[in-house]
Amino acid sequence: MSDAELALRSTRVITPEGTRAASVAVSAGTITAVLPYDAPVPEGARLADLGDDVLLPGLVDTHVHVNDPGRTEWEGFWTATRAAAAGGITTLVDMPLNSLPPTTTVENLHVKQRVAADKAHVDVGFWGGALPDNVKDLRPLHEAGVFGFKAFLSPSGVDEFPHLDQRQLARSLAEIASFDGLLIVHAEDPRHLAAAPQQGGPKYADFLASRPRGAEDTAIAQLIAEARRLHARVHVLHLSSSDALPLIAAAKADGVRLTVETCPHYLTLTAEEVPDGASEFKCCPPIREAANQDLLWQALADGTVDCVVTDHSPSTADLKTSDFATAWGGISGLQLSLAAVWTQARRRGHGLEDVVRWMSARTAALAGLDDRKGAIAVGRDADFAVLAPDETFTVDPAGLQHRNRVTAYAGKTLYGVVKSTWLRGERIVADGEFTPPKGRLLTRTH
Ligand SMILES: [Zn+2]
Repeated sequence: MSDAELALRSTRVITPEGTRAASVAVSAGTITAVLPYDAPVPEGARLADLGDDVLLPGLVDTHVHVNDPGRTEWEGFWTATRAAAAGGITTLVDMPLNSLPPTTTVENLHVKQRVAADKAHVDVGFWGGALPDNVKDLRPLHEAGVFGFKAFLSPSGVDEFPHLDQRQLARSLAEIASFDGLLIVHAEDPRHLAAAPQQGGPKYADFLASRPRGAEDTAIAQLIAEARRLHARVHVLHLSSSDALPLIAAAKADGVRLTVETCPHYLTLTAEEVPDGASEFKCCPPIREAANQDLLWQALADGTVDCVVTDHSPSTADLKTSDFATAWGGISGLQLSLAAVWTQARRRGHGLEDVVRWMSARTAALAGLDDRKGAIAVGRDADFAVLAPDETFTVDPAGLQHRNRVTAYAGKTLYGVVKSTWLRGERIVADGEFTPPKGRLLTRTH
């Protein structure tokens, strides 16, 4: 239902200043006031009393592969945005590859926007792609509203999205820096990958050895050098190697314009627990050892790693073969990311405020959406997740909204049940019941 005037009341509202009992006033989809808990409900407003459930800003997931159009049997806007809504995510930014066409020209961006328009249950924005041959398209894409540009430094996994060599990276980054855009990078060095043992087969240890930490470390060092030289903004996607952390910390301390994300699977799953042949755990870079994971958590805590995004990258089940070398690489986590991260975070002594910072405030800032998204504060969109943080559930693939219900989290018991999700003041899902799509298409505004 839609209410022009609304007040949401909870004993635990997560605001940028901390968690407190409050009433959040909403008018025409925008937060107009954060009032004391027992403030009178504004005249004409409907009260939604959430009791002790936590009211947090809707999550902003800046790393999602929707694959629509072109590979919609893998995932599509209808299913992906329903999964997002069910998981407390109210904004997602779609990756430029695995759809056909990829988002590498303005014309292709418009194709994607048309396809997404009437299927989006949450707000959707788009990254552009930087390919060896589309330097001329980068500025027009920037002006058309993409949030930045994705590039690979090693083969992407799909033929239509080739990677950049060192010279091409320098050329694309110089162009992007000329309009102060953002380059987001899959950083694995192809020479390191080629030199690693490529055994193939069902053993996870062999797969792990085929994607060594050194491939990430080398590519990140190269990226930092280019960012420093060009004074350009760069973002490291899906960091897995903890060995790269000192390099990243030093570059940041030096003023390099660098941000870094990691993903729920690196923070909550370990190489030691992956069964042989279980390619639902395959992604690149790979899930590494428990000791590596501990250092990623430390880096999140001290700010070396900025944010957490899903890198939701599904395929059909038949592509998840038991041979790790040839199985599709990608983990489906959209609906489960909040619960997965919160479960580990609470075990490690972090608060929900931290999770909100990593998965909403910082990701909104990364995409330049922090004037509209990422906080419960006056002037922001009234996007919320209502969470019962101490309730648990056991992951049943049948309960997932993803098009393909392949998940590395099957059977895990997780803390944090999303009771409802709200977009611009409208409750878009509660107890598994969805409204018709209310999402809007977002474009970069600054
Ligand atoms: Zn990805």
